[in-house]
Amino acid sequence: MPFGLLKYGLRKKYPAERHFTPTKPLKSHYDVVIIGAGGHGSAIAYYLAKTHGITKVALIDKGYLGGGNTARNTAVIRSNYLTEAGVKFYRDSVELYQNLSNEFGYNIMMENRGQLTLAHSDAAIRSFRWRAEVNQHLGVRSELVDRQAIKAMVPNLNLSENARFPVLAGLWHADGATARHDAVVWGYARGACQRGVELHQLTEAQGIDVEGGRVVGVRTNRGRIRCGVVVQAVAGASSVVGQMAGIKLPIHSFPLQAMVTQPYKPILTPHVSSPHVHVYVHQTSRGEFVIGGGSDPYPLYHTRATLDQKEILSAATLELFPFLAQAKILRQWAGTTDMTPDYSPIMGLSPVENYYLDAGWGTWGFKATPISGKMMAELVATGRVPALIEPFELERFYRFEQVNEAGATAASH
Ligand SMILES: Cc1cc2nc3c(=O)[nH]c(=O)nc-3n(C[C@H](O)[C@H](O)[C@H](O)COP(=O)(O)OP(=O)(O)OC[C@H]3O[C@@H](n4cnc5c(N)ncnc54)[C@H](O)[C@@H]3O)c2cc1C
Repeated sequence: MPFGLLKYGLRKKYPAERHFTPTKPLKSHYDVVIIGAGGHGSAIAYYLAKTHGITKVALIDKGYLGGGNTARNTAVIRSNYLTEAGVKFYRDSVELYQNLSNEFGYNIMMENRGQLTLAHSDAAIRSFRWRAEVNQHLGVRSELVDRQAIKAMVPNLNLSENARFPVLAGLWHADGATARHDAVVWGYARGACQRGVELHQLTEAQGIDVEGGRVVGVRTNRGRIRCGVVVQAVAGASSVVGQMAGIKLPIHSFPLQAMVTQPYKPILTPHVSSPHVHVYVHQTSRGEFVIGGGSDPYPLYHTRATLDQKEILSAATLELFPFLAQAKILRQWAGTTDMTPDYSPIMGLSPVENYYLDAGWGTWGFKATPISGKMMAELVATGRVPALIEPFELERFYRFEQVNEAGATAASH
């Protein structure tokens, strides 16, 4: 190590920056308690403090900051959904992502690599054309591309007509991107803590006290907190925590698995997904191929990786990229995803007056982190549901007005 660097490191004048405030004893009362310090909880805390000046906030997590699905996702960011509500919501999120590194003064390693979804049937081509139309109408870059264009973008893709499911066309989404997931949650939590929010890790919500239809406190393993408002942002534990407040959510949790290979030279720029073969692949800036799309077919609160999924994901990957046959899998992991019937999130009011929901993020919630944080903070601060998230209220399931994004979510994430 150069001597100058060592001297710099040891100087008292340049103390190492603490990103997060050290854990203090819990106060007896907070204006807002946010349960779940993943990307979503941290983003809500950040916008509450930054935009609305609400800082008497406890951000609590039963584990560690960003240790849930935020740490486990494959970091795909995109907005080429199908419904008007979905496209507008994710479009605004992708826009916020573009400036996050500047806003935080902290590199979230945003890479605008584009996303290509493959069509292997005439039905898929028809639905991609429909998506492209809706996307373009709402200002999202999305277009149907033919095999020749696909070959130019992804020369290593298996375009053989003898493949089990030959590639017929693709949906090209130039706004597709990736970002470093843990940098996103660290950036939000750091910004919140700098403005006075308290982060309490290893603090589990074990009960919610509701009196006269209003929430009055949260019972934790470190004592009881009285509070003005509670926001739950616990992803895979949404149904369990909702039940503590007496709220039944239409959410079932399923493990979702992903894996990465050893690093290779950079040869794949866009994120490539195939809902038909049911896999998606991109190459990180470190050279590893990230492979995802493997949901276990049964509800379970567990984050173990299985040999079954390794085989299924590997076989699907080799159909698209046979050159990866010799690649070694470095890591495989799982997260608990909170799936809704229509593959859209649940945001907004709940049957308990001052208890707000940020749930149902399933396999697609990382890309929504900035906009859901911003919108949920606005809801908490004003008591009014912002128009952008109105279609995602829990009430929609009672009115049979689902926001069906099943086709556009699939293996594309
Ligand atoms: C393998 C995989 C790949 C994915 N890929 C993508 C992708 O490419 N793109 C995309 O957009 N999305 C993707 N997702 C989905 C995405 O990761 C999630 O939707 C998103 O991270 C949810 O963020 P969150 O902050 O709501 O939840 P989390 O990050 O899970 O945070 C919730 C927190 O709540 C805490 N908690 C739970 N119960 C309690 C309690 N009782 N008390 C206190 N704290 C509690 C947990 O410890 C956790 O830290 C993927 C998910 C997985 C598992």
